[in-house]
Amino acid sequence: MSLLRIFTSTFALLISTLIIAQDIIPCATPPVKSDWLKAYQKMPDNYAKAGDTTLYVPVTIHVVGTDVGAGYFSVPEILESFCVLNEDFSESNMQFFIEGEFNYIDNTAWYNHAQIATGYEMMIANNIPNTINCYIVGTAAGSGGYNLPSANAIALLNSNTANGSHTWAHEIGHNLSVQHPFLGWEGNPYNYNSPTPTEVYYNYTEFKPIFYTDTIIIDTALVEYVARTNCYEAADGFCDTPPDYLASGWGCNGDGVSIQLQKDPDDVDFRSDGGNFMSYATNACNGHFTPEQIAAMRANLLSEKPDYLYNQNPQNATITDAPVLVSPIDNESIPVNSVNLSWENLPNATHYYYEVNRLSSFSSAFLVTSGIVNGTTAEIEDLLLNTTYHWRIMPFNEGNSCAFFSEGESFTTDEAVGVEQIEGVEALNVYPNLLTSGQSLYIELITNQSLPLQANLYNLKGQLVQPIFNTNVNGVFSTSIQMDNVPAGMYLIGFQSNENVFYEKIIIM
Ligand SMILES: [Zn+2]
Repeated sequence: MSLLRIFTSTFALLISTLIIAQDIIPCATPPVKSDWLKAYQKMPDNYAKAGDTTLYVPVTIHVVGTDVGAGYFSVPEILESFCVLNEDFSESNMQFFIEGEFNYIDNTAWYNHAQIATGYEMMIANNIPNTINCYIVGTAAGSGGYNLPSANAIALLNSNTANGSHTWAHEIGHNLSVQHPFLGWEGNPYNYNSPTPTEVYYNYTEFKPIFYTDTIIIDTALVEYVARTNCYEAADGFCDTPPDYLASGWGCNGDGVSIQLQKDPDDVDFRSDGGNFMSYATNACNGHFTPEQIAAMRANLLSEKPDYLYNQNPQNATITDAPVLVSPIDNESIPVNSVNLSWENLPNATHYYYEVNRLSSFSSAFLVTSGIVNGTTAEIEDLLLNTTYHWRIMPFNEGNSCAFFSEGESFTTDEAVGVEQIEGVEALNVYPNLLTSGQSLYIELITNQSLPLQANLYNLKGQLVQPIFNTNVNGVFSTSIQMDNVPAGMYLIGFQSNENVFYEKIIIM
């Protein structure tokens, strides 16, 4: 082995150690059954579950960023993840809707919080009553997300919530009382070569809310048997969630069960169900809650959180039509550094996300500006001159965010050029520059060759107010236009010949 090789492998070892040190745990929800769940599991049949009725549950989305507003989980990512959340709960006949606008919070300490206690502080300061409060952050106390019962809210790590992740469904499962199928194994690595104990001890002191500062919390959980003899008491207390001892992220095989073989205390081999959203199996394995988990979540809403069920008719119809962009399109030339984007109204859409980008690929690194509006227009200001921009929209409503982007369109801002830059025009005179409504505006110009020439009146957003003329000019040309129906304001007259544009500013009093 060469010296260089030794250096390289040492370096690689250092890197991998670093990565391990920064590894996040999938979930930091306190691994403990709530009093409500304990009572429910004693007599689940005594709790109403509302049959097959769809239950609509409001969610407040808090988008946390740094002090300077960086690091937000992007709107398209929120919409895509919220769509996945509703798909994950469709079998449960529970659907979520976005309550109010997204709540943007600029606070670096909350955005990157290493301690649950800081997350607690963030939640208590910002929670909206009677909704499931979800905080999307950049560091979630070293985890992919957690539900904090003492603050009645959940935190989601932004990078762990995108790209088809089921983390949101997992944490809302916790929020609605359900625990991990491996309850008790949190922080206890399973070892196939050691006899499996009948009880596991687990310490969830680190998950404590701030008001337990001096208390160490240690609890025990029965280890669940394959034979289902203790399934109502062991682990999560549900009999239709099979045994699972895997408390760190794991992958599944082609049958959707753990690659890791496990042995119960009776030495019976089994593999864990990777499909359960409440397991730590990877997103690719996840796909369902069990009927008992679903029954508990529905009963929890109806008995413990009935105040959440105040709106059972949210706007959640699917948006099926493709968005149509109206203006500006086809690389239209905009005479100023502001523009009014407009698009067609879409059935079932109540909100539109728009974005303006420097590239037609809409690479997030080249995002210029973005926002959400309720109508079909958006004002964009402070653009650069002589620059091509691309824009697109994504429609959604409070209950259906399974949206898609429109096709991209483009426009170019033009810097006003001197009239001498229009080849062939020798002189141009527009007067008066300041005129009262109803007064005539005069235009005179001289060309030294035959030129196709058109003039249009624009407002300062670059919108066409009215055409003035469109003709072929050879030599001296003059015309006048009556400004009868033009409201007071500042306007631009754009003179265009072939590719060249010249703007003259006028004011109507
Ligand atoms: Zn969890």
